[in-house]
Amino acid sequence: MKKIVVLGAGYAGLKTVVLLQKKLKGEARIVLVDRNTYHYEAADLHEVAAGNVPPAKISYQVSDLINSKVTTFIQDEVVKVNPDDKTVELAHREQPLDYDYCVISLGFTSETFGIEGAKENALQMTNVKEALEIHSHIIDKMKDYKITKNPDDLKIIICGAGFTGIELAGALVDARPRYAQIAGVKPEDIQISLIEASERLLPMFNQDLADYGINLVKKLGVHLYTNCLISRIKPSTVIYQHGRGNGDESMTAGTIIWTTGVSGSPVMAESGFNERRGRVVVTDHLTDPDHDDLYIIGDVAAVMAPGSPRPYPTTAQLALSMADYAADDIADRIKNGKRLSEPYSYKSLGTVASVGNTRGFGVAMGHEVKGYPGSFMKKMIANRSLLEVGGLKELFAKGRFDLYH
Ligand SMILES: Cc1cc2nc3c(=O)[nH]c(=O)nc-3n(C[C@H](O)[C@H](O)[C@H](O)COP(=O)(O)OP(=O)(O)OC[C@H]3O[C@@H](n4cnc5c(N)ncnc54)[C@H](O)[C@@H]3O)c2cc1C
Repeated sequence: MKKIVVLGAGYAGLKTVVLLQKKLKGEARIVLVDRNTYHYEAADLHEVAAGNVPPAKISYQVSDLINSKVTTFIQDEVVKVNPDDKTVELAHREQPLDYDYCVISLGFTSETFGIEGAKENALQMTNVKEALEIHSHIIDKMKDYKITKNPDDLKIIICGAGFTGIELAGALVDARPRYAQIAGVKPEDIQISLIEASERLLPMFNQDLADYGINLVKKLGVHLYTNCLISRIKPSTVIYQHGRGNGDESMTAGTIIWTTGVSGSPVMAESGFNERRGRVVVTDHLTDPDHDDLYIIGDVAAVMAPGSPRPYPTTAQLALSMADYAADDIADRIKNGKRLSEPYSYKSLGTVASVGNTRGFGVAMGHEVKGYPGSFMKKMIANRSLLEVGGLKELFAKGRFDLYH
């Protein structure tokens, strides 16, 4: 019986396993590996970081979806893939895992671009543990303020005003009254700032829509500093140059959060793949160009957009779509001894950013959405992803049904 090893139980990996269980009905053995026993909806991490939802709302146990008759779940840290030997090294097992087919879906990690002090002195937001750390750090600072009256304790700087930074700023605005109560100040005394190197923000949206989103965040009292190239993070201090060639300026805050971008898992470089920022340009069947039995999907893959020199931006939507294709292709190979005749293709359903719980903006199915309809659409998209991977059970348990305000 063929053995399929799936690495990572995020959007891409867990959906692949769920589909393979259905399609192969016991015709292959499946092994799923993740460092956690739970799956989390990474696209909602900012809500946990702000403290607006508990981690349980964005996560569920992997075992809920595992059919133990065909799938074995191993909780461990993937260290390295050896594609020539067809093995996977795990941190806590002496014997590597062998496979006939392997699906690498280890997701994203924070990209600090080598900026000094960014790892050490800024809080990262790439998993549930880090999101929780951000929240408890902010609460500690609010408590500190009551004693110290140091205005920096009330300041939060978000480094990077991309999609994630904007969503986090919106979530923090919603949380501000709670923080203020702890610190004993007015909500507007809590200062939230975004620092960004580019001038043209949110390039995934047209200028009008991007401006709408930026103005929305500004109207909520978020300070936005663009054209500010961060060169160093010191404890409680961001050093940057405003415009090229200008001297250093600095800004201080008790909380500094890093959201300038992500790269694929470091396991890709460790395994010797031909990768760039942890991503491998995959074939039109989503396999490694040098190893046809190795599928690379989700945020560790780069899928070139037709007619463009750039790959598609990595998103949960793309990860889920790649899982559909990889599961179909593997099932076809195992059941029928052939590949899917059609290459992988992707059609985005659109992108919607939330700015807190009741506002959003973006494009969904070709239509622009702004304000409350944007927030409604964002929750619908989150619910769709829960349904696609977790089914009705997880949708009803974790779905966003707080649609009316
Ligand atoms: C705040 C935020 C908002 C976002 N908003 C959106 C959005 O609105 N729409 C959208 O489409 N996308 C959004 N994204 C992007 C989206 O979350 C990612 O593209 C998506 O999570 C990628 O899915 P994945 O399955 O490839 O990886 P992940 O979701 O990162 O899953 C990877 C899995 O691998 C496991 N893992 C990683 N390394 C190891 C290891 N070495 N050993 C064992 N296990 C390991 C992890 O525990 C995890 O379970 C957002 C991201 C963030 C951070």
